[in-house]
Amino acid sequence: MLEKRIVVLPQVGVAPKDLYYAQILSSLPPQPPNTSLRKHIHNHITHRSINTLKDNTLLHARPPDIHPSESSLPRKDRVHLARLRCGHHPALLSYQKRLDDRAVNSCPGCNASPHTIQHIMEDCIIHNHARKQHNIHSIKDLWENPVSAVAFLGETGLCVHHTPIRLLDLYLWKLVLWSGSFAFHICKRPCVPQLVGKVLAKSDQVA
Ligand SMILES: [Zn+2]
Repeated sequence: MLEKRIVVLPQVGVAPKDLYYAQILSSLPPQPPNTSLRKHIHNHITHRSINTLKDNTLLHARPPDIHPSESSLPRKDRVHLARLRCGHHPALLSYQKRLDDRAVNSCPGCNASPHTIQHIMEDCIIHNHARKQHNIHSIKDLWENPVSAVAFLGETGLCVHHTPIRLLDLYLWKLVLWSGSFAFHICKRPCVPQLVGKVLAKSDQVA
C-alpha cells in the first residue's frame, strides 16, 4: 500500500506561526494507513516531546515511565505526584524557601535535614514505619509505584487526600446548617407566630 507523505512548500508572506505549523507538517513521517491525519499529528508531536525530554532535576536522569496504575488515582492525587516529581510542591519547605527567603527549610519531622521530597521518600526516620508499610524504597516510587506513594505521602501529611464522599458530606452538612439557619430566621419573623395563632384559632372554631 502506498504511504501518504505531506509536503508543504514555503510561501512568501506567511505568518511565523503558520510557518511553524507548516514546518511541523512537513516533518511528519509518512501517514500510516487507517490513521487519521489528526491522530497522526498528535502521535508524532507526543512522541517527539517524550523523546526530547530533559533529565529530571531531582533524579539527574531521564525519569522512569509512570506506572499505568496512576490512572486509577483521583486527579487531585495525580497533581500532587506531578508537583512532587519536580520538587515544586507547596507543602515542601524546600520549595517554600525558593519562593520566600524567610521560610525555614528544615524537616519538621526530624529537624536533621532540608525538607525535600528525596528526604521524605528515602531518609526521614520519622517515616520509617510508614515507608516499610507501603513498600516505599526511593524517590522513583513516585513514578513506578504511584498508588502506594500517594498512600505513604497521605500518612506523612504531605499529600492530603479528600475523597469525593467526604466532600459530599461537607456539602450536605453545609446544606443542613443553612436550612436550619433559614428555618430559624423564618420562625423569628412576626408574621409566623401570627399565622400559627390564626390557624390554631381556626382549628378551635372547627373543633
Ligand atoms: Zn526528616
